[in-house]
Amino acid sequence: MYERRRQELDIKTNIKAKIKSFAASLGLPLVGVTSAEPLAEEEKIFTRRQEEGTYPPLAEQRMPRRTRPAALLSEVRSIISLAAPYFTDPITAIDRLPEAGVGVIARYAINRDYHAVWREKLHRLTLFIKAQLRQPVNTKFWVDSGPPPEKALAQKAGLGYVGKNTLLYTALFGSFVHLGELYTSVDLEPDPPCRREECGACRRCLSACPSGALSAPYFIRAELCLSYLTQMRGPIPREKRRLLGNHLWGCDVCQEVCPRNQSLSAAPAVPLSDPLLPRFLPAADILRLSEEEYIARFGSTAIGWRPVAVLQRNAAICLGNCGDPRYIPVLATSLRENPHPMVRGASAWALGAIGGREAHLLLLKAKSREHHAQVLEEIEAAL
Ligand code: SF4
Repeated sequence: MYERRRQELDIKTNIKAKIKSFAASLGLPLVGVTSAEPLAEEEKIFTRRQEEGTYPPLAEQRMPRRTRPAALLSEVRSIISLAAPYFTDPITAIDRLPEAGVGVIARYAINRDYHAVWREKLHRLTLFIKAQLRQPVNTKFWVDSGPPPEKALAQKAGLGYVGKNTLLYTALFGSFVHLGELYTSVDLEPDPPCRREECGACRRCLSACPSGALSAPYFIRAELCLSYLTQMRGPIPREKRRLLGNHLWGCDVCQEVCPRNQSLSAAPAVPLSDPLLPRFLPAADILRLSEEEYIARFGSTAIGWRPVAVLQRNAAICLGNCGDPRYIPVLATSLRENPHPMVRGASAWALGAIGGREAHLLLLKAKSREHHAQVLEEIEAAL
């Protein structure tokens, strides 16, 4: 009996310390542990949002799987929440907005796809935990996508607090972190939760949000968020295209303006992978990409999860929003030759947005040869 208790205590404390140290050696510097109890507060929020019809469009819809950890791993006793930075440089991009026709890519998306990098590390962490214990262990992990409410779990595990822009803020890396969680049947000592209210009277992110998606503190209308709009499949609703401005992929504005993110250069860790892309790309170059070139250039990043047409649709909209007639020829070529109706439709919209006689004539010409109903409808609306 005594030996069993001693072993349990050893697992709760010593094994937890070893797990944290091994995770740090993998490049996952922030690790916290929380219990596997149902998340009562989250359940209330999800229920309310489902009733209101404001539940995020890309989020996991089955609530019990989100808020009751045992619904995802029946033997779960503890949840290990992890965070690692994807950006630690001082914020300067906000001071050097690119010229017209150059699109902005969110910081997380320029690196190697974090899902793949993280999965490999969490797999190694799982093997490490199993090797430490002389008993059968069940585990399951997720990175970013999946049912666990990762920000609520991270706050409960003491990694940071959720700001008014709904993102998790860590003391070391601000909000520029990716999160992952590992559910395990091992009983570990929970860390104290983070309860601090750090935003105070500040509302900078709410005022700066380019699309008004942050309509109230701690509440995001995900269907308006540029991060969602630039990643969605299918045409972006016409009334929302102006909101994109020059955002080619994702949006960092609410993080860039946040005072809590201003001193990141002091952070001691490095992101898990080096950037593969620049943050600013000429939108016209994106429109000219072949499928093969797209895969070669973007296939290893998180952008590569979507087909080329999604990025080209965004590029056309960026060019329309910049309003510069220099981009009429590249949009006209795209309207004539791009194999994807969604991109031809966005190019038609962009020509209409730039306007003028030349764009008008090109739209009329396109109308006479186009057969796809969706593109014809876009052309009609642009004329
Ligand atoms: Fe909070 Fe201000 Fe940062 Fe928004 S900008 S998350 S209100 S501190």
